[in-house]
Amino acid sequence: QTMNDVNDTTSVKVAVRIRPLVQSEISKGCKEVLDVIEENEQILIRSIDRSFTFNHVLPSHTPQNELYDRCVKPVIANLYKGYNVTILAYGQTGSGKTHSMGTTYKGEGDMGVIPRAISDIFDFVRENFCYDFAIKVSFIELYQEVLYDLLSPKPRDQTTLEIREDTVRGIHIPGLTEVPVQAASDVLNALTRGSTGRVTGSTAMNAQSSRSHAIFCVNISMNKKDDSLENKEVKLYLVDLAGSERQKKTGAIGNTFKEGININKGLFVLGNVISCLGDDKAQHGFIPYRDSNLTRLLKDSLGGNSVTLMIACVSPADYNVDETLSTLRYADRARKI
Ligand code: ADP
Ligand code: MG
Repeated sequence: QTMNDVNDTTSVKVAVRIRPLVQSEISKGCKEVLDVIEENEQILIRSIDRSFTFNHVLPSHTPQNELYDRCVKPVIANLYKGYNVTILAYGQTGSGKTHSMGTTYKGEGDMGVIPRAISDIFDFVRENFCYDFAIKVSFIELYQEVLYDLLSPKPRDQTTLEIREDTVRGIHIPGLTEVPVQAASDVLNALTRGSTGRVTGSTAMNAQSSRSHAIFCVNISMNKKDDSLENKEVKLYLVDLAGSERQKKTGAIGNTFKEGININKGLFVLGNVISCLGDDKAQHGFIPYRDSNLTRLLKDSLGGNSVTLMIACVSPADYNVDETLSTLRYADRARKI
């Protein structure tokens, strides 16, 4: 790939976050194999002597507020200028996606990205006197290529949704529950309600949530109070992606086999789309959004007037080196923009 002119309306940034060893890794006697060269934003897998450079590399001691302030806040600021923003958490199950995103907000502990972004947005709303704001949130789970409406009061199997696209409205989802919100606390209530609904009723809770994408959407309409301004309508997608690990062969029976294929498909197509967006030639041609529901849904926020941040989460343990390498390769493809 040659050096390309970055299309100034489409940009993808990558932050890699290493989590600390967890108890189960310590019990297994795992060793840490990742080094960070902070001044170069470089990560080294010591055991196989491979290194990668990203926009940000966050060592395992990095607190939640630093992830937010250094990597996420500047990306969120693009919303106020009229860009759509997507924040994606990518990585194997157990690598820290949900912890980093704060997808299961319980109102306590050290908050992840979603509650911090919400609080930021409402600070902006409070301080901005040029616009009237109308903010709505929705929350979708995408499992085996089926969309579920996590904020619907109906039983889960009655909440399935379809993605539509037309020239007037672009991508839209008829029947999706969109909750109008006046304050950060309304958003956090919706987040808590949706993420609770996501896990109840499923005995194989972890298996399922690790194979589905959780997509929290904040829709912001900015209506001008003054004719010298322009109305703006922007979307923030906060996505806790399915685990990136390949499905184990032993689990590949009956329904489980289908799960594996479909999850890989969403992440696979997302990788292709992001890589096309970074390729000058491909950008003016065909981008395979339609190949998965994940990329169809995110279409308006990946291409066009948009900024994307991928938070690639990795375990520091020798035990996980294969998955860590695969995550860094995937992220590296996105970074070549
Ligand atoms: P994933 O969503 O990728 O499956 P989780 O976010 O659930 O992973 O993280 C797996 C475990 O690791 C959890 O117990 C979580 O609390 C812990 N963990 C993840 N990232 C960190 C971190 N940066 N600091 C401390 N603990 C973490
Ligand atoms: Mg998770």
